[in-house]
Amino acid sequence: MACQAIKTFYGHIIYARDEKKLVEYKSGALGVDQSGRIYFCGSREDLDLEVKAGECRIEESFDLGEKLILPGFVDTHLHLPQFGQTGKYGKHLLGWLESFIFPEEAKFKDEKYAHKISEWFFEELLKNGTTTANIFTTIHKQACNAAFEVASKTGIKAVMGKVIMNRNCPDYLSEDSKDAIKHSVELMEKWHGHDNNRLLYAFIPRFAPSCTNDLLNQIGEQLKANPSVYMHTHVSESAAEVKWVQELFPEAKSYTDVYARAGLLGPKSVLAHAIHLNEHDYKAICDTDSALSHCPSSNFFLKSGAFAFATCEKKQIRFGLGSDIGAGPQMSMFQVMKDGFYIQPDLWIEPAKLFYRATLGGAKALNLHETTGSLEAGKDADFIIVNTERKSNIPANILQKEIDEILSSLIFLGDDRIVESTFVRGKCVFGASLLNSLVST
Ligand SMILES: [Zn+2]
Repeated sequence: MACQAIKTFYGHIIYARDEKKLVEYKSGALGVDQSGRIYFCGSREDLDLEVKAGECRIEESFDLGEKLILPGFVDTHLHLPQFGQTGKYGKHLLGWLESFIFPEEAKFKDEKYAHKISEWFFEELLKNGTTTANIFTTIHKQACNAAFEVASKTGIKAVMGKVIMNRNCPDYLSEDSKDAIKHSVELMEKWHGHDNNRLLYAFIPRFAPSCTNDLLNQIGEQLKANPSVYMHTHVSESAAEVKWVQELFPEAKSYTDVYARAGLLGPKSVLAHAIHLNEHDYKAICDTDSALSHCPSSNFFLKSGAFAFATCEKKQIRFGLGSDIGAGPQMSMFQVMKDGFYIQPDLWIEPAKLFYRATLGGAKALNLHETTGSLEAGKDADFIIVNTERKSNIPANILQKEIDEILSSLIFLGDDRIVESTFVRGKCVFGASLLNSLVST
């Protein structure tokens, strides 16, 4: 085999290998090949041995000292057009949508506006260390296209699609079913699989009340014909919404059953919130291996309730964490993890479990764990450099402590300020130049 030329980052590496196993190299090395994949992740000594054996050659290396190298975060549910609407006080989900969200989404009819907000949105995601995201746009084809164009320039990994709605929304956001499907298919054909699968398409019925049964069935037909394409929607976020769905779909056994009957569930389906679930809901989710997105910051904000974290773990349902911008007020997955702990009234979730859900668990929920979510060889080199000195309330000696204590400090004290740089496929897409860390050869 030819000697592999790599770029190497030396630092303190932490990632989750699975739900229970964390990997740590205090004096670690991350080697990235020329295609942007991880060639090596391990101890500095082991990499030296590979170099001596002639298996790889270090072309360039950066010594980050004690700074942390973590996988980029995976945000499994958020809304691009709502980024300018975070922190808008609203009494409950349905009223909040009417007052703030629908009027803002209407502005995305203007492609230039959509482009401007998309640039801001993706820049902020990378600044927060999120390298993979599952994103709602609006009903507007051109706005969704603009979001894909901006995303493609950043190199971020994203699953996106246009929102679909044909009822129970303001007239200015309601669309003809034929157009809804036609525009979704056109976008799917243009973007699904783009740039070696960095960009992927999702059909996005906003939530059951906003679509007629006929439209949901048409989406189901598209998913059947295109099994690699995603489906992303909301389910059982608030008690009032669940009641409304029962009235609108009296034939369904549960809220999730509405989606099951239309053929919308499967391994590429992600349902956001999933708070008020009954046994029929759980059965539909488990039978189809659908995934969930738990959005604790948003659930706090709209007082929607608490996700059944332990039940979903026990049932081995795939789920990740989501910021749910804009009901969630910030993109930082450190803060989403913290809220994930706080929102449980009587469950003490270990820091390692929250970290797993914000990284590899999220990647598994999106079926993207073969390429991202951890720092194992063969995956895309999507990672962040965390500098705990950037926040003065984090103890100076924290990185010498046990791994659980380090993660606890990151989760309860961290935010976007400690993300010094963000890399996708080994390329710096946010942050300070690493020139000062360059090791001279
Ligand atoms: Zn949402």
